[in-house]
Amino acid sequence: MKRVYLASPHMSEEGYEMEYVEQAFDTNWIAPLGPNVDGFEKEFQDLVGSPCALALASGTAAIHLALKASNVKKDDVVLVQSLTFAATVNPILYEHATPVFIDSDKDTWNMSVIDLEEALKKYPNAKAVIVVHLYGLIAHINEIVNLCTKYNVTLIEDAAESLGSTHEGKHPGTFGDFGIYSFNGNKIITTSGGGMLVSKHPKKIEKARFWATQSRDQARHYQHSEIGYNYRLSNVLAGIGRGQLKVLNKRVEKKNFIYNYYKTNLSGLKGIDFMPILENSKSNCWLTCMICEGNVKPIDVIMKLEEHNIEARPLWKPMHLQPVFKNYDFIGTGICEGLYNQGVCLPSDTKMSEETLKLICSLIVELYKENRSANNE
Ligand SMILES: *Cc1c(COP(=O)(O)O)cnc(C)c1O
Repeated sequence: MKRVYLASPHMSEEGYEMEYVEQAFDTNWIAPLGPNVDGFEKEFQDLVGSPCALALASGTAAIHLALKASNVKKDDVVLVQSLTFAATVNPILYEHATPVFIDSDKDTWNMSVIDLEEALKKYPNAKAVIVVHLYGLIAHINEIVNLCTKYNVTLIEDAAESLGSTHEGKHPGTFGDFGIYSFNGNKIITTSGGGMLVSKHPKKIEKARFWATQSRDQARHYQHSEIGYNYRLSNVLAGIGRGQLKVLNKRVEKKNFIYNYYKTNLSGLKGIDFMPILENSKSNCWLTCMICEGNVKPIDVIMKLEEHNIEARPLWKPMHLQPVFKNYDFIGTGICEGLYNQGVCLPSDTKMSEETLKLICSLIVELYKENRSANNE
């Protein structure tokens, strides 16, 4: 059988992406920047409801520039969700600042509000908070915004995995000071590689645009008074992004179909639970994740599906458990470690047929049956 992936690039059946890419070729806008980049930024900011947007080479670059725009400097403390992908945290170290990891809570899987407040008390000089909306699940964002206002710290939202989700009708990434998104190949829409930075402070976005474009001063003679980066998105890739934006709603619909399919067909199994979707929010269901609390372990599910060339994976391994970050503080009780130990990400590829979903469910049901009869012997 052809391999089934967790999530892989899904270009539109209509060929929207190629139309924009062909325009770029026809007009020789192969160089970085150009009309597709401007169009992509404009269409994106209108979609999420932000006053401005900056298209970048990756989501990681967007986090890096958000930290710089938040004035994070050497030895400053940044409070960051532990349950996430390493790209959320690495840019803190690019600036030689100090991450402090915050636990998750059970009802959102994202940053615990209680632990965040404890951390804000322990580190009164913290410069910024990075909350993540993992797997398309919205964090307790209103409470986190209130805490950041109360303690006067900048809030950065890592919405890399949650484009297309909403909370009270508003898009993740637009609640705090900065929001970042990713168009890496596994995300809900992709430019093969790319990212976006949004902010409610247009001046900060202009500064980030300057840094991302090699910090070129306004002069003919290549003058620089700050360190710059080559972080802008290419005009060809932005064309793919413009085409993908047109099918975002369709992808969200299919991802939700996949989530509901698994939930309907597997919830009856003993010890299985699905990722929680916060009240008043809609999830893009980027990946459907489930918790295995019974005798069947996540690794059993992963191995069983692997036998059929189907990809499943554990949840992100928390950052405070990573060898590279082991010397940094962690505030919490270990909820995220529990989620990591019991969680599985199921194949959530939007190109998957209902037949494939049916097969995956039947394999998991079979696994639970085998386990039950083994225990009865
Ligand atoms: C993918 C991802 C990123 C990084 O985005 P890139 O575009 O791959 O650099 C950051 N944070 C999270 C949570 C992600 O899943």
